[in-house]
Amino acid sequence: MAASLARGEGIEAAELAIRAGLTRLGRGVLEDLLAADTGHRGPRAECGSGHQARFVSYRDKTVDTVPGRVTLTRAWYHCQACGHGLAPKDAGLGVAGQTMSPGLARMSARAGAAVPFAPGAGLAGELAGIELTGRRPGRHAEAGGMAAAAAIQAQAAAITARTLVPLPPPGPLPDKLYIAIDGTGVPMIAAETEGRDGKGDDGKARTRQVKLCCAFTQATVDKDSYPIRDPGSSAYLATFAPAARFGTPMAAGARRRGAGHIRQLVFLGDGAHWIWNLAGQHFPEATQIVDLYHAREHLHDLARLLAFMPGDHHQDWLTTRLGELHAGNIGAIVSAARTFPLAGHKAGELDTAPGYFENNAHRMRYQHFRSLGLFTGSGTVEAGCKAVAGQRLKLSGMHWSVPGATGILTLRCQEASGRWEQIWPQAHNQTGAA
Ligand SMILES: [Zn+2]
Repeated sequence: MAASLARGEGIEAAELAIRAGLTRLGRGVLEDLLAADTGHRGPRAECGSGHQARFVSYRDKTVDTVPGRVTLTRAWYHCQACGHGLAPKDAGLGVAGQTMSPGLARMSARAGAAVPFAPGAGLAGELAGIELTGRRPGRHAEAGGMAAAAAIQAQAAAITARTLVPLPPPGPLPDKLYIAIDGTGVPMIAAETEGRDGKGDDGKARTRQVKLCCAFTQATVDKDSYPIRDPGSSAYLATFAPAARFGTPMAAGARRRGAGHIRQLVFLGDGAHWIWNLAGQHFPEATQIVDLYHAREHLHDLARLLAFMPGDHHQDWLTTRLGELHAGNIGAIVSAARTFPLAGHKAGELDTAPGYFENNAHRMRYQHFRSLGLFTGSGTVEAGCKAVAGQRLKLSGMHWSVPGATGILTLRCQEASGRWEQIWPQAHNQTGAA
């Protein structure tokens, strides 16, 4: 090492060699620590199903840990009644049924949530000298995320049943709590979309819709009266479950953000019925607002559908309507649209485009909402949702299973919500017991 430094090769070789040496040393220390307890609990031990298992012998188990692969020798018991064996020591170490230590599983899940598994393994190797190979780290991350999803679901059910009452958020209460809801498609393996209609060339589905929710608070507006999202207040939630099953975790998440204590509750959505149904069911007192950006998109679509309009007029027409939308004058948009016939649509669909504006008119009083200092667009939130789902699950060539995508999305949502520390131990305890 000294020779390479003296040759002027820089300290890279030395620093890497030192880390490798420390890791080797650490592995030895860990193995010694693990050897201190033989795991012998007497001639008989609880099997976990109410029987007494009999001590058989000492057996080896290899476990991958942060400083590398270690072998632990521990007492092995066999239960006659269950017909299976167990090592009581494994449960205490958190490695029952696992070949990865809790620390390594946590790092592996964190890497797998952030980036695709192959580059994730490369990063862990480069940055921490941790070896993650094969498909196991990916499966671990997915399983950890699924366990986290189950823990969140259980917590949500307890909050709904009021057996668990979340404390109000610390500090002075913000004035407004927003719940922004959106959906986005995640590319799936064929088995997950079988028999589902979709937008593919052959009319078959290639994606499944994941429902995304972001709850965040707003205490103030800036000097130009634009609302400001409280930094660090966003809590994300994602699920492939049908809308009805989305309601419980959504409402629980909102309560954890202070829904029971905050004066003004606002739902932001793209105008889809299921969103308003959920809002009405769980928080009927909340103000409902159609996300302005989605409304604008619908207005562009509507303009394209209007026939017999020459090019120049078309642009003027759209500009005028966008102004009316900004002001929340939905009546003007609808009557302007109804003076033109719609092109290229079946008679039954003629009403749906203007109908979107008619049905949501009370959710598009943008001037009024602005005067109250409210957000009218979920743009930043949507960017957050897109980042949570899109930047990891919608990369080219990716195809997911529903459980796998649920696991990774759950981990990403917890990370983005700053709740990794709360949810990971629970998730790990659940996988550890399996
Ligand atoms: Zn048993």
